[in-house]
Amino acid sequence: MTTPPPVIQAVPKQLHIAGTWQNAAAPRTMPVDNPATGTTLCEVADAGPEDGRAALNAAQAAQKAWAATAPRTRSEILRRAHEIILDRTEDLALLMTLEMGKPLAEARGEVTYAAEFFRWFAEEAVRIDGGYATSPDGRNRHLVLRQPVGPCLLITPWNFPLAMGTRKIGPAVAAGCTMILKPAPQTPLSSLALTGILTEAGLPPGVLNTVTTSDAGGLVEPLLRGGGIRKLSFTGSTQVGRILLAQCADTVVRTSLELGGNAPFIVFDDADIGAAVDGAMVAKMRNMGEACTAANRIYVHSSVAGEFASRLTARMSALTVGDGTAPGTDVGPLIDAAGRAKVDALVRDAVDRGAKILTGGELPAGDGNFYPPTVLTEVPRDAALTGTEIFGPVAALFTFDDEEDVVQAANDTEWGLVSYVFTRDLDRALRVGERLETGMVGLNTGLVSNPAAPFGGVKQSGLGREGGRVGIEEFLEYKYLAVPTGS
Ligand code: ADP
Repeated sequence: MTTPPPVIQAVPKQLHIAGTWQNAAAPRTMPVDNPATGTTLCEVADAGPEDGRAALNAAQAAQKAWAATAPRTRSEILRRAHEIILDRTEDLALLMTLEMGKPLAEARGEVTYAAEFFRWFAEEAVRIDGGYATSPDGRNRHLVLRQPVGPCLLITPWNFPLAMGTRKIGPAVAAGCTMILKPAPQTPLSSLALTGILTEAGLPPGVLNTVTTSDAGGLVEPLLRGGGIRKLSFTGSTQVGRILLAQCADTVVRTSLELGGNAPFIVFDDADIGAAVDGAMVAKMRNMGEACTAANRIYVHSSVAGEFASRLTARMSALTVGDGTAPGTDVGPLIDAAGRAKVDALVRDAVDRGAKILTGGELPAGDGNFYPPTVLTEVPRDAALTGTEIFGPVAALFTFDDEEDVVQAANDTEWGLVSYVFTRDLDRALRVGERLETGMVGLNTGLVSNPAAPFGGVKQSGLGREGGRVGIEEFLEYKYLAVPTGS
């Protein structure tokens, strides 16, 4: 391991429990690798179940006093953290690029997006309201108040290492919940840096406890089954989400799950094709396609399919693939060798079944987990990628002739996170938007993520919403006091 760059050196590498940075109880460490080079950037603490318990103890011990803090105090901590994040945009972006691979420009965009969750929830912290009403028979007063659910377990994925943290920490802080944060083992550094920033911003000891581990199951299962955790907020695969939901059943833990997607992207014959291509580039290529919102199946009306395919292919083949830290890189490496092998296998399968490659489709030689921007056309509807998240820079084009048929095809999946519709016909946009079985619909846009909007899915894409007005609700309980009126 060569000397790490200064941004890596500056990040704490230990667990953060009860306000102190500490080694794992069994003092193990785990490597953090750079997916562009395959080299190890540094080692961080590798927590075991005993560290998970210590983190829970700390979160429980801090809960009562934290819940009693003034909303304005919690709001201002988030506001300060928002400002510190923005002040450190360059360092945080570089850190993210080094551990995750996305190009620096995208990493900078994520830093802003991540910070926005803190600003939004700083604004929400002081707007937690209740109710005061007379019962219909006049005999009782109903007083309704909101209280934090209690200690939360926040589990985040590697694809948006900073924003998935702030999207969960923001509402938990605003609501007055204490937390254990368990980031993905591939990208712990952004979460460790974020933990340091929140401490600087004044978050009291024990409110946020960050544990990095290579054995997520070993640490998480006893926490969820053991009682003490009152809320799980998870972003990751549907497969792991199902396991966690079952574990939550033991002690009836409230859950928010943001799971996989299989987004349909539909281009009607009356669409503005330039806008649709722009939208597809965002919906497909944001984060190299490693996003649950990524356009997985692109359905184009047969009368405009040729034009759309050639314009998209021109854009995709003009992208520069390389190390995300290099100037001019548009597309960084995929997260790891397994992720790349999966993308390659899905492309091979589609081609074996008759799909045509318009650009890309070949594994490059050399180091790093690179995969070229790829456009596949004439993809048959039985290709494996129609039922699997590609999670890579591969645009799979299908054709359709009929609105009814494309809506049915779009809905023919267990997932329901997001869909995209391009048409100039307002009636059609609303009609199709209402019929698509997804929690979010982009109408003539390839980007739906926004801290002020309720993000989340239906079907097996998850439970609950993050962001928007409802984001904080997930971390609050209702309590109702019945008080006789005396009449
Ligand atoms: P991906 O396949 O994209 O890495 P995962 O669902 O495996 O998605 O990972 C998302 C998050 O869930 C990561 O923080 C990971 O460590 C965690 N995770 C994976 N398996 C488990 C498990 N059995 N219990 C708890 N957390 C898990």
